[in-house]
Amino acid sequence: MSEGEKKEKKERRLSLYAKILIAVGCVWAVFFALSFSKSFDDWYVNNIFPLIQGVVARIFNIFPFAAGEIIMYLGAVTLIVTIIWSVVFGIFKLVRRIRRKSAKKSRIYRTYMKVILVIAVCFLWMYLFHWWIPYNGHVMGEPAAEERRGYTIEEYRYVWRLISVKFRDSQKAVPRDENGRIIYPDKKTAYEAVIRSMKNLSERYPRLKGYYGTPKAAKCSDVLDWMGIGGYTYPYTMEITYNKYTSDLYWYVLIAHETAHYKGFYKENEGEFMGMLAAVLSDDPIMVYAGCEDSYYFLSAALMNALVDQYGMKEGLQIFRQFMQEDAELMPDEDLAYRDEMDAYEAAEEAYAADSHPLEQYSDTAAEAADVGWDTQEAVSAENYYDDGTRLFMDYFMGEKAKGTK
Ligand SMILES: [Zn+2]
Repeated sequence: MSEGEKKEKKERRLSLYAKILIAVGCVWAVFFALSFSKSFDDWYVNNIFPLIQGVVARIFNIFPFAAGEIIMYLGAVTLIVTIIWSVVFGIFKLVRRIRRKSAKKSRIYRTYMKVILVIAVCFLWMYLFHWWIPYNGHVMGEPAAEERRGYTIEEYRYVWRLISVKFRDSQKAVPRDENGRIIYPDKKTAYEAVIRSMKNLSERYPRLKGYYGTPKAAKCSDVLDWMGIGGYTYPYTMEITYNKYTSDLYWYVLIAHETAHYKGFYKENEGEFMGMLAAVLSDDPIMVYAGCEDSYYFLSAALMNALVDQYGMKEGLQIFRQFMQEDAELMPDEDLAYRDEMDAYEAAEEAYAADSHPLEQYSDTAAEAADVGWDTQEAVSAENYYDDGTRLFMDYFMGEKAKGTK
């Protein structure tokens, strides 16, 4: 092959690379434009997303560790290497130009950058189809869930009572040792309870049907702990990853929350709502107890706020106390609830203390970085932040009441 032929062949190869990238970019752009239609997004999550989730989640479930976590750290290293290399390469090129020497071609650098570009495009692709489109649909995939009607004191009180009874009953039903401490099952058994509950809810929310992979404990759980993160669902690899220093009690609600994300309910109000709902409707008393720990206090606060709004601070709180007295026999033992929560929390702290944490000196830096992250997430989520989960919880139970099924 002559030099000219070689060059021509190389150009053809180059253009194929560019053509593929442009084609991929065009498809991406079309779907990105479509993502601004919430109805399209809902249709996508209901019909296309489960197919992708079913394949990707199954592939990454093969790994016994959280592959996404490794990818995240590798990604950070790659980014740093790329920036440093590009800067050094740029300076080197500039110096040669100043010295009026012809620029030396670096085939290694060019190939590296071409590979990096392909990887970046793959991630951008997954970002759009695994996360962005589902995230941008209607709340719960239902336009009605965005109506945000307010609730009356009586309505709040109705659901508050309902949860109080579940709280009280589950508190008595949980298995306890001779010292009265809750006996928690292993994570596998606990997760089976979560899946059962999610699948029961799939009649009402069909997105919850289909495949469930196993949640994975994060290798760097201490970093998550410093950042105040209980767990996350990595959309690129579709893995549920949790902070192994999370309390055993809270774990149920956390995993149900993450599992909802995993099924395309990516908004934080959706995750918060599904986490509480799956827990309080579970057939496992510990899971019900965990769900009530969360929802009971949120509902108490919502009821109290409604009373204070209507009657002012003093009278509002007085009425709330009166409600507590009137319903005394429906109420959980709050001291016991507090003790159970503290037991679980202390056990988690002991687990943390038993491990070594070589990076602990950077824990404050991690916490500061996390604060920026949490603020950004709150700004991006706007009205779909965690606290809106209580409103969806109210919607659900008031909807059930209207149907007459309780
Ligand atoms: Zn979440």
